[in-house]
Amino acid sequence: MQEIKEYVTIKKQKIKEYIDALSVKPKLVIVQVNEDKASCAYVNGKLKDLSEIGAVGELIKLDINVSQDELLSVIERLNKDESVDGFIVQMPLPKQIDEEVIKRSVIPIKDVDGFNPLSTYLSATPKGILTYLEDNDFEFNGKNAVILGRSNIVGKPMHDILLNKNMNVTVLHSKTSEEDRKFYIEHADLIVVAIGKKYYLDNRYNFKDNCIVMDVGINRDVDNHLYGDCVPDLKVKFQSPVPRGVGLLTRLSLTLNLIECYKFRHK
Ligand code: NAP
Repeated sequence: MQEIKEYVTIKKQKIKEYIDALSVKPKLVIVQVNEDKASCAYVNGKLKDLSEIGAVGELIKLDINVSQDELLSVIERLNKDESVDGFIVQMPLPKQIDEEVIKRSVIPIKDVDGFNPLSTYLSATPKGILTYLEDNDFEFNGKNAVILGRSNIVGKPMHDILLNKNMNVTVLHSKTSEEDRKFYIEHADLIVVAIGKKYYLDNRYNFKDNCIVMDVGINRDVDNHLYGDCVPDLKVKFQSPVPRGVGLLTRLSLTLNLIECYKFRHK
């Protein structure tokens, strides 16, 4: 498997070549309604990606006390704005706003995050993992996949994507017994871990020799460093690092989804 950072750099260069040849550049707007450190880092990363590929990025920052109706009116304006190809409402949102209502209000053809159940695009993190595995010739057909975590943005869409690739997919969650967890994990050819617990997956399991682990977890500890859901030295064929792993693939997916939005709207 290619190093993820190197893989993403090459993919972004190809996207840049595509955009350089366009007279009207793709435009992505990010709406941010919080000031938390992690969100600011994610937003800055996304804006940096857009500038590197030659797309137009715009940030709309709203006051933390903004009402749900005010946010919905900004979304409505972006849904209709012909100059905007795609947009993102950065999560998490403050308590007075229902995230599910917001996710469903983004028009599906501009929903580059893929959070709306009707979105035209695959959810960014599972799509990033899929694209990376495909480009590295991972053999999906008839192999066993185990997903730890069943969130709407990672676990569940990852299940559908891998099932569509003809894998035998098992989703484990907090109610799975330790005995069953051990059984499924030790039979897995691919493990996607998205539970949000530092170093949860470790070498107490006897992994298959060919096992690939994609670590989605991003856990900020008291030392302010980022940690994955897996210990960094799993006895497997390959594991994605944290940081500079699935996070980079997720950001890459946003740019790929933006290009899809652009092609759809300018065809
Ligand atoms: P989430 O909403 O935080 O939910 C956690 C999930 O893990 C739940 O489904 C929970 O099960 C399950 N879980 C808890 N303990 C478990 C255990 N021992 N075994 C198996 N499953 C267990 O999930 P999320 O939003 O997908 O986030 C998960 C992590 O990924 C977080 O660290 C988040 O920051 C990170 N993340 C990273 C990216 C990226 O781009 N790298 C993107 C998205 C999320 P129940 O449903 O039974 O409670």
